[in-house]
Amino acid sequence: MATKIPYKTYLTEEEMPRSWYNVKAHMKGAHDPFLNPATGKPCTKEDLRAVFCDECIDQELNNTDEYIEIPEDIRNFYKTFRPSPLVRAYFLERILDTPAEIYYKFEGNNTSGSHKLNSAAAQAYYAKKQGLRSITTETGAGQWGTALSMAAAFYGLQLDVFMVKVSSEQKPYRKEVIRTYGANVIPSPSETTEAGRRILREFPETGGSLGCAISEAVEKAQNTPSCRYVLGSVLDHVLLHQSIIGLESKAALEKYGVTPDVIIGCAGGGSNLGGLISPYMGERLQGKNQIEFVAVEPASCPSLTRGKYAYDFCDSAKTTPLAKMYTLGCGFMPSPSHAGGLRYHGMSPIVSRLYHDGYLRAVSVKQSDVFDAAVLFAKCEGILPAPESAHAIRATIDEALKCRKEGRKKSILFGLTGTGYFDLAAYKQYNDKTMNDYVPTDEDLRRGFETIPKCAANDGLL
Ligand SMILES: *Cc1c(COP(=O)(O)O)cnc(C)c1O
Repeated sequence: MATKIPYKTYLTEEEMPRSWYNVKAHMKGAHDPFLNPATGKPCTKEDLRAVFCDECIDQELNNTDEYIEIPEDIRNFYKTFRPSPLVRAYFLERILDTPAEIYYKFEGNNTSGSHKLNSAAAQAYYAKKQGLRSITTETGAGQWGTALSMAAAFYGLQLDVFMVKVSSEQKPYRKEVIRTYGANVIPSPSETTEAGRRILREFPETGGSLGCAISEAVEKAQNTPSCRYVLGSVLDHVLLHQSIIGLESKAALEKYGVTPDVIIGCAGGGSNLGGLISPYMGERLQGKNQIEFVAVEPASCPSLTRGKYAYDFCDSAKTTPLAKMYTLGCGFMPSPSHAGGLRYHGMSPIVSRLYHDGYLRAVSVKQSDVFDAAVLFAKCEGILPAPESAHAIRATIDEALKCRKEGRKKSILFGLTGTGYFDLAAYKQYNDKTMNDYVPTDEDLRRGFETIPKCAANDGLL
């Protein structure tokens, strides 16, 4: 009587979610509040208003509403690239000869090539609705800058993207996509901000860093009338917007009566993972399922598996509020040989709390094993995955092989967050066999932990 499940399932426009899902409504006490580093006290709305859009702040601080309506204008923009397909990985199952059923939600079918557009769309809309003229952000690898340039163009906002200088030189085509959508790309550090000028005076030859780009973008937003800063991961409102991934996946799987046994996502700042798991996690927190949730991170930047649960800055320039999260220290620098993305030092406070409370398992995987999985997947399922996404593929393959060994049938759902067309330098290293699997030593980690602030809130945690 089992319906044969199609290779791809798309929801109809009528079936598309009309609300996002706020998993905090079912977390006991949500997570510890952001702290103002100057006072050590919880951040108020007023602390945040100069930097972020009002509506995003309200969502950030909303710990009670389970569903938050998606405004019609955002649902309309979503129609240009959603629903995304829920795919049954029949070809991967066959090559692995596994009794497991494997499903993935593919978020790479838009020009930015990743799930980041889900939150970019929402944040640009709220900026426009507030009557702002412009927004700023930083981008490292470039996916976020591209997604935000698309959203800013759609809603008619000006956008300045501070792009880490080495990336803007190494990924000139990313930069051109951003410029084509009408945004201004400023290689960081730049002469346009005090933070940039200070760094350039001190280190004239620097290729820049994400921390420096964040400081420049925040400074620009604070000094420009009718401008705010937007962030592409980590924060609660970003996870809220990404819940569209989990809601669509759940609606598609329920058509065939499938509830996953295991849900797997790659974890950088935690936004795609948090969004993918949120509706299922909400049920788990209410005792309605026993799904196993798995976060996959690179062995070279292991914030969950080897980090500390403490208050830390969200940026390496130490300008943001303090967040309670798993962190390697805001001064932690992953090895320069690390090509696979997911190089953020911290982790979403929601994901951190769920992990701390034992609702989520974390694994770390080595770079060359990740690319082995990426290439196997590309050959049998056709999609060239982003290196970040390939972390989830690796863990999925390992789980499916375990099912084969144990002769057990499980349903596995994973998030395929994006495509790898702009990551060919990393694939080149893999093909040339020059890829390196450096794993930080305890001494490397200790140096990172030294950069976690020694404030009262961290007493006993470090
Ligand atoms: C940014 C990015 C990630 C990691 O970010 P999260 O906030 O952890 O989801 C993963 N995959 C792709 C393709 C990305 O662009």
